[in-house]
Amino acid sequence: MTEIDNSFDDEDLFIADILSKVKTIAMVGVSKNWKRPSNFVMKYLQKHGYKVIPVNPGTAGQLILNELCYASLAEIPIKIDMVDIFRHSDFCADVTRDAIKIGAQTVWMQLGIESKEAIKLAKEANINVVYNKCPKMEHSKLSGALGLAGFNSKLISAKRPNVQIAPPPARNGGIVKSSELETLAIHAGTKPDASTGSRGMPIYQTTAFTFDDTDHAASLFNLQEPGNIYARLSNPTTAALEQRIAALDDGLGACCAASGHAAQMLALFPLMAPGMKIVASSKLYGGSITQFTKTFKNFAWEAELVDVSDLEAVKLAVKEPNVRVLFAESLANPDGNISDISALAEIAHEVGIPLVIDNTMATQILCQPGKFGADLIIYSTTKFLSGHGNAMGGAVVDMGNFAWDKGRDYSKLTKPDSSYHDISFYESFGSHAYINYCHASVLRDLGATMAPLNAYLTLIGLETLPLRMNQHMKNAEIIAKFLKSHSKVDYVSWAGFNENIYHELAKKYFTNGFGSVFTFSVKGGYDSAKKLVENCNLISHLANVGDTKSLIVHPASTTHRQLSPEQKEKSGVGDAIVRISVGLESYKDIISDLDGALSVI
Ligand code: PLP
Repeated sequence: MTEIDNSFDDEDLFIADILSKVKTIAMVGVSKNWKRPSNFVMKYLQKHGYKVIPVNPGTAGQLILNELCYASLAEIPIKIDMVDIFRHSDFCADVTRDAIKIGAQTVWMQLGIESKEAIKLAKEANINVVYNKCPKMEHSKLSGALGLAGFNSKLISAKRPNVQIAPPPARNGGIVKSSELETLAIHAGTKPDASTGSRGMPIYQTTAFTFDDTDHAASLFNLQEPGNIYARLSNPTTAALEQRIAALDDGLGACCAASGHAAQMLALFPLMAPGMKIVASSKLYGGSITQFTKTFKNFAWEAELVDVSDLEAVKLAVKEPNVRVLFAESLANPDGNISDISALAEIAHEVGIPLVIDNTMATQILCQPGKFGADLIIYSTTKFLSGHGNAMGGAVVDMGNFAWDKGRDYSKLTKPDSSYHDISFYESFGSHAYINYCHASVLRDLGATMAPLNAYLTLIGLETLPLRMNQHMKNAEIIAKFLKSHSKVDYVSWAGFNENIYHELAKKYFTNGFGSVFTFSVKGGYDSAKKLVENCNLISHLANVGDTKSLIVHPASTTHRQLSPEQKEKSGVGDAIVRISVGLESYKDIISDLDGALSVI
C-alpha cells in the first residue's frame, strides 16, 4: 500500500522512517465531531507528540482539538512535514499539488483512499507517498500498542523496547522479520519486558489497568486509542498469545477465548443475528454439532449440516439469503475427513460469506487455511497448541481479507454501534474491524475470556509446536501401519494411506504429515471397542486430543453419545470406532500397549 522509497526494501521500515522524522502533520478533511474516525486519528497523533494542524474549509477559523483549523494548506503559517488526507480519492491529486507547493515531504492517503494521479505527482516531486493506510494504526503497530489488541505486528525482537538506559546500537532498530514457523512459534508476540527486561512473558494476573488521566480513560473507552481497560476485554499476556497464533497463520490478528467452544461463539457472534444461518460440515467434532444445532438455537441462529465433500450440496445450501457463514474443519475430529478448503472458499465468496475453518487438529504446522482462502480460522488451543493438556483455551484468527461491507449484511461490523457512540467498526478500523469487535464487544458483553495463566501456558506450549507436531506425525505413521496390519482391526482412517479417500486432499493441503488423531474400527463392534479402551494402560482413556500423552476414547459411548444414531453415522463414529491421539512416547511402548489391549478383545 505504499510506493516504497528505493532505499527501503521493507514497507514497515519505510513507514517507521516517515513516522520517526515527521513532526508536523496537516490533516485535510478532519472532522470537528469527536465521533468521526478522522478526529480519533488526530487525537491519537497529538498524544504521541505530533503537531497536527486541521484543514477543512467547513470549520476554518474554529478550534479542533485545541488547534486552529485552516481552509487550505497554503494558509498554514508553520512548516508542514506530512499531509494526511481524509477526503475522497478524487480530491487527492489537488491536495497533493498543494502539499508539494508547501514543501511537505510525505503525502499520506487514509484507509480506503487511493489516487493513482496523486501517487504519480508525489513520485515526480520525489516525496514519500503512502495510501490506503492509517498513521494511527501504523504508529500503534510499530510502537507495539496494536499488539495489545491481539494484532500481528509481523515484527519480532530480542531487544527490550523503550528502556531508560539506551540499548547498544542495533541494526534496524532491533527489529527482525521472519516467516519461519519455528522462529515465530518462539518469538512472535513476546519481546523482552520493557520495564524489567524479563525475557519470559510475564503473567499479567490483574483484572484492571490504571489510566493516566480521565482523558486517557475516555480515549480508551471511546476506542480512540488501543490499550487495556479491564481484563475481560484484553490482557497483555493473552495479547502476546494472540499475536503469536496470528503470526503462525500469517493472519492480521487474533482474539483468544476461554475454550475452543467459546472461540466458536466469539467467532460467529459478529456475523450472526436472529434468524440467520450457519452452513457447517456434517463431519464436525460432536461437541460443535451440538453447540451449533442445539445451543445456538437459543440465540435463534439456525444451522444446516452438509457433507462438505459434496460441493454441489454446499453451493445449494449457501444460496439461501439468510446464510452468514460456511464452517468446516481442515482435518476433522475424529474421523480424519479433510476439507477441500480452496473449493469451499470459492463457493463461500461467490455468495459473499466468509469461510471459517477449524484448524485445531491440523495446526499451522500441517496447514495454514488462510493461504487457501479461509477468512477466519478457529482453534481449540486446549489441544496441540498448548500441547500439554493443562490449559483450556480457544482462538479466532482473522486473515483480514474479507470485505465486510461488500458481501451479505454484516450489520454488527458495518452499521453504527450504539454501545460505542454510534461508530461503525468497519468505517473506523477497516480490516481491523472484526478483531477489534471481538475484543471490544463480544468479550466485553459475553465475557468468555481466556485466563492469563492459560495464555501463558499456551505460549510456552507453542514454543515447541513445530517440533512436537513433527514427532506426532512420525509416531502416528508407525501406529497407523501397526493397526492396519493387526488381525483384530478392520479399518484405519489415517489419511497417509494411498487408498484413503482423503489422501489426495491431504497431499494438497498438508505439509509435514497426515495428522496424528485418527480412528480405527475393531472387529466385534461396540463391546470390543469399549473393552479395548478399558484395557490400555499407557494410553490414557479420556476425552481429549493433541496432548504429549497418547489418548484413546470410544466416541460412540462418550464424546459423541449426545448425537442421534443418524448424526453418529454421518460424523463417522459408528459403534466399533475407536479414536486415538498418538502422543510423543516411544512408539514401541504405544504399540506394546495397543497390542496388549487388542489381545483381550
Ligand atoms: N474443535 C475441535 C476440532 C475440537 O476437537 C474441540 C474439542 O475437542 C473443540 C473445537 C472445542 O474445544 P474446547 O474443548 O477447547 O472447547
